[in-house]
Amino acid sequence: YQELTRPKREDNVTEQISPTNGLIARAGPPTIVEGIEGCIGNTPLFRIKSLSDETGCEILGKAEFLNGAGQSSKDRVALSMIEIAEEQGILTPHSGDTIYEGTSGSTGISLATLARAKGYLAHICLPSDQAIEKSNLLLKLGAIVDRVPPAPIVEKDNFVNRARALAKTHTASSGITSASAEDQSDLPAPNERMTRGRGFFADQFENEANWRAHYEGTGPELYAQCGGRIDAFVAGAGTGGTISGVARYLKPLLPRITIVLADPQGSGLFNRVVYGVMFDVKEREGTRRRRQVDTIVEGIGINRVTANFEAGKEMIDDAVRVTDAQALAMARWLVEKDGIFIGSSSAVNCIAAVKTARKLGPGHRIVTVLSDSGSRHLSRFWAKAGDVGGAVDTKLEDVMNA
Ligand code: PMP
Repeated sequence: YQELTRPKREDNVTEQISPTNGLIARAGPPTIVEGIEGCIGNTPLFRIKSLSDETGCEILGKAEFLNGAGQSSKDRVALSMIEIAEEQGILTPHSGDTIYEGTSGSTGISLATLARAKGYLAHICLPSDQAIEKSNLLLKLGAIVDRVPPAPIVEKDNFVNRARALAKTHTASSGITSASAEDQSDLPAPNERMTRGRGFFADQFENEANWRAHYEGTGPELYAQCGGRIDAFVAGAGTGGTISGVARYLKPLLPRITIVLADPQGSGLFNRVVYGVMFDVKEREGTRRRRQVDTIVEGIGINRVTANFEAGKEMIDDAVRVTDAQALAMARWLVEKDGIFIGSSSAVNCIAAVKTARKLGPGHRIVTVLSDSGSRHLSRFWAKAGDVGGAVDTKLEDVMNA
């Protein structure tokens, strides 16, 4: 068809006419991306119809479960942490370097996927109370999986501390001195498999490559998708990367925007935002001996100010506390009314979005994040939520009062 292909001057579109059936095909410049990492970001933003109709606001969901590597918002963060480590010479693709991380699951799945794509090993430590499908998936991806009993961050055996310690022993045993290597005594013996290459502790809580991924990706995407009009942005905080990165991008452009933290029960951030206490103190989580955060919700809720939360905390205007019962009811509602099947943190965000809509009043545009899919939560959160059933007609009031 070569001779029938002609570029049209105005818009760089090529038209090709089939000589056999006269079919006209139009194509712009190719938009092929490089590898699975090219499928991260540029997720759709859509109007959640039921919640918008009920509140008279536009409630919009950023479909972060459509990120193409690990199918969650954490793809952006994992890619950012790896790319910055590569730029700094800390990681080298196909060298046998191992990425270590402490994660509730999503970051680990994104890291394990990208590790395969780029020729690294992944060693993931996650709390043993998180949904089993997450660790099963990690094993399928070839990651080494440590399911660590839940413990506060002050405990040596906390999942984050364990990942940090393993990265240090790895680095020590491979003969490479890490700039950040501190006291390496009292650490578990390194696994034979992990003595190739170097060890890199990704450290999503403290690594500022995290909020920067949202500052450079999620924030600009939202601004563009909304044509520059957003009245409120609502998100939970697990590391704080999403809310800080998006707030830092949007607030200077839209000074009147309201940034709202959606906080699950058991998390300490709500008090900090609403009562403004202890924001300037790097308080340690878990000074009381109990689980980190007592909720069925996975991925959000913390009791300490991480570097990534710190980066944007001054920009948070309000906080909404969401109970597990509300999150379960909202997850069911979204399936029943809209056919949207999301995970627990997204359900928390949607409750907080409705509360924000009611506070601001009709006519406002409220944007929130749908971080991952319900299929990551079948054995725990969705097992508790149960089946939605056929002929149901739930009222939003019942969800909000659950
Ligand atoms: N939702 C899910 C499912 C998550 O895994 C996380 C991150 N742990 C979040 C939301 C919260 O995002 P962030 O870490 O950016 O605060």
